[in-house]
Amino acid sequence: MPAVPGAATDIVIVGGGVIGASIAYHLTARGARDVLVLERDTLGSGSTSKNAGGIRQQFSTEINVRLSQLSVPRYERFAEEFGIDIQFQQVGYLFLITEEKDVAPFQRSLALWERLGVPARRVERDEIRAIFPELVVDDVIFGTFCRRDGHADPTSIINGFATRARAAGARFREHAEVTGVDVEGGRVTAVRARDERIPCGTVIDAAGAWAPKLAAMAGVDVPIRPLRRQIFVTDGAPGLDHPIPLTIEFASTLYMHRESGGILMGMADPSDAPAYRETLNWDFLAAVVERAIARLPLLERTSVRSGWAGLYEDTPDKHPILGPADAVEGFIVAAGFSGHGLMHAPAAGQLVAELVCGATPSLDISPLRLARFREGGAITEHNVI
Ligand SMILES: Cc1cc2nc3c(=O)[nH]c(=O)nc-3n(C[C@H](O)[C@H](O)[C@H](O)COP(=O)(O)OP(=O)(O)OC[C@H]3O[C@@H](n4cnc5c(N)ncnc54)[C@H](O)[C@@H]3O)c2cc1C
Repeated sequence: MPAVPGAATDIVIVGGGVIGASIAYHLTARGARDVLVLERDTLGSGSTSKNAGGIRQQFSTEINVRLSQLSVPRYERFAEEFGIDIQFQQVGYLFLITEEKDVAPFQRSLALWERLGVPARRVERDEIRAIFPELVVDDVIFGTFCRRDGHADPTSIINGFATRARAAGARFREHAEVTGVDVEGGRVTAVRARDERIPCGTVIDAAGAWAPKLAAMAGVDVPIRPLRRQIFVTDGAPGLDHPIPLTIEFASTLYMHRESGGILMGMADPSDAPAYRETLNWDFLAAVVERAIARLPLLERTSVRSGWAGLYEDTPDKHPILGPADAVEGFIVAAGFSGHGLMHAPAAGQLVAELVCGATPSLDISPLRLARFREGGAITEHNVI
């Protein structure tokens, strides 16, 4: 069936997750008026609605730290800027280092944080006990702690970006799957959504874990793999009546924080191969619970009430891809946040908007260019779970 011609648009953003919504907001804030977001399902229905809400600065590479440093102040002032309370609880992020192999990388991170002004510090066992007395820390070599980190509500965040973007003229279309990208003479000319052909000059690939599929429609190779990640939430947490930091047992990848009176726990399943698989594997719960109780024994007194699964959008070096696909003019990639897209969404939106509007990005984003994978020399982020 021939495609119906749709109204021409300047900028089409494919993907209505937190990244697409943030880009739409930042574009309109810079004066772009003709912005269309196409989402194949509903706004936020991808990884954005599945994530744990963690926001932190404790990364091992300068570029990831700087993305956090651009983003955290925005989250601190979100209510002022967007009129929405995102429940940003700055209870801190506590990394527990239990294996010798992680000592040197975290020592390097501590030096980097000091240089860049991240208010994170090394904490010994006694101080960890003071911060979170119910934790078992006998096996902990040391911890790192940043009080300014914490967690917030992902749904309120995406709603904040989308509401303001809409008010400034951006259009969001749900149930509008992009099935084709037209490229003529080496440049993007249109996208196809359902039976419609929408002429446009710029396409921004903000399709998260599905970004490689969209890029392939334009003939662009984007190395992002979908990795299932699972979350379980307990009923109450009897005996735990104080705020707790988002705590990460780095070696096992177990993390936990408070969620609606209970504890939210997540852990990577090392046997999960990359796949577009978003069903929860209840068989994995036993392994998570075993680790969680070993670290926080009072969890023995509660039970798991819910769980869900979603996809990380993993790049080979665990950094996002931000910038143009050199081979196709007008095709911009903003994806591959490798499990950190919520925390980096304000920075990503700002930087992509600056790039698209012809301004010099506030941060040198050349380390995040797509070409780094074929050029070699990319630096891998160590502090990821
Ligand atoms: C269990 C879990 C825990 C996490 N915890 C954290 C955390 O604590 N902190 C943090 O910062 N990050 C976390 N993340 C990662 C974070 O959720 C992602 O990095 C972030 O949501 C990426 O946002 P996005 O907008 O790029 O992708 P998404 O939210 O996945 O949005 C992409 C959208 O594109 C749409 N789409 C795809 N293909 C098409 C198409 N052809 N046409 C139209 N639309 C299309 C999808 O439907 C989807 O809605 C977690 C992720 C998971 C799974």
